Parts: sequence; structure tokens; C-alpha cells
Amino acid sequence: MKAEPAHQLRLLDLQEIDSRLAQLAHRLRNLPENEEVERLDSRISELRDRRTVLTTALSDLDREQRKAESDVDQVRTRSERDSKRLDAGQVSSPKDLEHLQSEIASLQRRQTELEEIVLEVMERREGLEREEAELRKELEAAETERDAADERRGTARAEIEADRAAESARRERVAAEVPEDLAAFYTKLRDQHEGVGAAALRYGRCEGCKLALSTAELSGIRQAPADEVLRCDQCRRILVRTGDSGL
Ligand SMILES: [Zn+2]
Repeated sequence: MKAEPAHQLRLLDLQEIDSRLAQLAHRLRNLPENEEVERLDSRISELRDRRTVLTTALSDLDREQRKAESDVDQVRTRSERDSKRLDAGQVSSPKDLEHLQSEIASLQRRQTELEEIVLEVMERREGLEREEAELRKELEAAETERDAADERRGTARAEIEADRAAESARRERVAAEVPEDLAAFYTKLRDQHEGVGAAALRYGRCEGCKLALSTAELSGIRQAPADEVLRCDQCRRILVRTGDSGL
């Protein structure tokens, strides 16, 4: 392939910009904030799951408490009714009297038992509420931390995007100066060789693979026409002659 030496040199500028663009894309993908946000997101989702479990347990306890309280009410009402009958002297036969007294005693025992259940449920409830309050605090802290990390990530991203936009604009200007066939050849090689399609020959060394050229290669290059597009024998990239090629 033939290309004017000035166009070949422009390829080196294009390469520099492309390497910079690749670097920016890499930085964007590997921002430390990405990992931080991800870690906090999974922490938040874990805390939310735990909160759901607690909320369910609390509503179960609510139901249990209401049931026990209503049982207490029922027993109390019955016991009061029996006591009133007793006080009013409505029961005359000794047998009925004995029966009523025994029922009152049994109702009172039952009431005490039920009241203990209510107390126990309330204690368990307090424990769960404390746990829930702690969890809520942890969740709020994690959410605040996540928002801060997200904001830092946004700032870092915006900076990189601005650099990227500037480099892309620069690339457009430089690419406009490179003939189409040379640009296409460069792009093909860049895709094949880890993002580097063109390299400078500097002090007898290919800057693409960093290897020194042999005396025979250098002498071949010396004899090659200036508009001949050269390739490095080692890495097969486009080799561009510069002012300090050492020829
Ligand atoms: Zn090379």
C-alpha cells in the first residue's frame, strides 16, 4: 500500500487518540465506585429482605396479641357476670352455688394464664421492634452511603465522558486527514492487534512490539520508497518512519 509520509505520520496521531479513548473506556468500566455501588446495593437488598421478615413476624404477633386480649376480655366478662349473680344472691341451691364458685375460680385462673400470654407476646414484640429500629438505622445508613457513592460515580463518569467527547472530536479532525484506504487498513490491524494498528519506528525499534529491528530489516526500510506503507516483521503492525527512526 502507498501513502504519503505526512499521512502515515497522521496515523500515529490517530493511534494515540484511539489508545487514549480505549484507556478512558477502560477507566469508565472499572471505576471503583461501580463496585462500591454494587456492594451497597446488595447490602441494601439483604437488609430489606430482613426487614420484610421482621414486618411479617410483627404483624403475626399483632394478631396473636389481639386474639389473647380478646380471650382475656371474654373470660373477664363471664367471670364478672358470674360474680354479679353470686353477689345478687340469685343462686339459692348449695349445689348451684358450689358450681358457680368453682367456675369463677377456674375463670380467674384462665384469665391469669391469658394475661401472661399477652405479656409474653408484648415482650417478644418489644424485642422485635428494637430489632426493627436497628435495622431501619442500618438501612438508612447504607442508603445514604450508596447515594453518596452513586453521586461520586456520576461525577467521575461525567469527567471521563467530557474527556471522551474532546478526544472523539479530535479524532474526527485527524481522521479526516487520513486517506480512506489507509484508515481502513489501520482499523483492521488495530482490531487484530490489541488496539494498536500503527507504531512508530524509533531508534531502530518498533514501538508496537518494542522489539529492535535487525540490520537487514533496517537496511530494507532504508531502501524502501517514502510513500511505501511498511509493516513490522515481528508484530505485523504498520510501521511509520519518523524523524528519529535511526535509519
Ligand atoms: Zn513490531
